[in-house]
Amino acid sequence: MAGVQTAVALREQGFTGPVTLIGAEPHQPYDRPPLSKAVLLGKAEDSAFDIDFEALEIELHLGREVTGVRPDAHELDTPEGPVPYDALVIATGAEPVVLPGTEGVPGVHLLRTLDDAARLRPVLDEQHRVVVVGAGWIGAEFATAARAAGCAVTVVEAADRPLAGAMPAEVAAPMAAWYAETGAELLTGARVDRIEPGRVVLADGRTVPAGAVVVGIGARPATGWLAGSGIALGPDGSVTADGALRTSAPDVYAVGDCASFPSARYGERLLVHHWDNALQGPRTAAANIIGAAAGDAPEPVTYDPVPYFWSEQFGRFVQYAGHHGSADTLLWRGDPAGPAWSVCWLRDDVLVAVLAVGRPRDLAQGRKLIEAGARLDPERAADPAVPLKSAIRQ
Ligand SMILES: Cc1cc2nc3c(=O)[nH]c(=O)nc-3n(C[C@H](O)[C@H](O)[C@H](O)COP(=O)(O)OP(=O)(O)OC[C@H]3O[C@@H](n4cnc5c(N)ncnc54)[C@H](O)[C@@H]3O)c2cc1C
Repeated sequence: MAGVQTAVALREQGFTGPVTLIGAEPHQPYDRPPLSKAVLLGKAEDSAFDIDFEALEIELHLGREVTGVRPDAHELDTPEGPVPYDALVIATGAEPVVLPGTEGVPGVHLLRTLDDAARLRPVLDEQHRVVVVGAGWIGAEFATAARAAGCAVTVVEAADRPLAGAMPAEVAAPMAAWYAETGAELLTGARVDRIEPGRVVLADGRTVPAGAVVVGIGARPATGWLAGSGIALGPDGSVTADGALRTSAPDVYAVGDCASFPSARYGERLLVHHWDNALQGPRTAAANIIGAAAGDAPEPVTYDPVPYFWSEQFGRFVQYAGHHGSADTLLWRGDPAGPAWSVCWLRDDVLVAVLAVGRPRDLAQGRKLIEAGARLDPERAADPAVPLKSAIRQ
């Protein structure tokens, strides 16, 4: 996604030099969100980007893995030989975290690639009894699809609630109820000890029968290939880009799931694993590549977005914009037991994040208010009948 978007943004912004896109996967570049939705359910065959690379004069090298980079020589290493560059954009995304001891075990699946989705389709078609490990975004979306396909689904989650890394307990509580509502069983505080043929054994000795197991316990930046390159990585494995998405090596940029960046807006470094970040970051990187190539040393464009993502789960459209911390004040808009509600997070009355369930208008208005750094009247913001934009403190 981020690699494709960088190449397209370069052309859109008037770059006329050669652009080469190298990717390890053999498939035409494709979009990932449909993999846990329409593609998984067989409602769409694939999710290839509708982009005419030839017309844009973007050279595609598919099925080609980059094994290293030598910034001093301005060269990439690939099994087919070195590739020189003037500017390099690292967009290698993220890799799903593997449950220890389960790599290559038959019947244990991950969900990151088109090939993963293709392997999972028969699991749904044949209505296997599925155990999902991890009640995060991917786990919830897979459970939704598997229930829609008629599979019996048990989701096992080591934490005491779903989305433990992303949402506070009081917000996760109503979301936990969605599992049962669709007939999926959610077991929290359930750590997997091992997977045996036909069953998952939990650390407390319980066993859950499983025709197939889908592991969705997070993803890490795919940056192992940068070892020894001298390009700085953070403790989370991300390429630590600066505010202009430049890495520690000259003429090397990083975008998307593999890169973290300093957010002046939120006062911390952010590593965002969502689609919108892989769309917006590349536009900044492209502008800075073009600016640097022009040679007149212009001020680089800074990347400081309000992060945004969506998820479709258990018949609901869930959207989130911004970034919140545990110290921020949480405000409910609407009844979390109902079909549509939102949550706002305020920092000194300034809106910093909004979660909207079936309330896209709250999300759209909230996103603009966050971008503007608007102060809200907490009482009006907590009234779901008041449009969020009308809750601005005068
Ligand atoms: C199943 C699924 C559903 C999702 N749904 C949503 C959603 O509903 N909403 C949302 O906001 N986000 C969603 N996301 C997240 C979103 O898709 C990602 O944030 C986005 O794809 C990131 O783009 P990227 O280019 O950084 O990484 P990727 O799309 O992962 O692309 C990286 C590419 O680099 C290749 N690569 C890696 N290493 C090398 C190497 N050494 N040499 C050559 N190529 C290499 C990889 O093979 C991969 O093709 C979803 C993700 C998944 C997996």
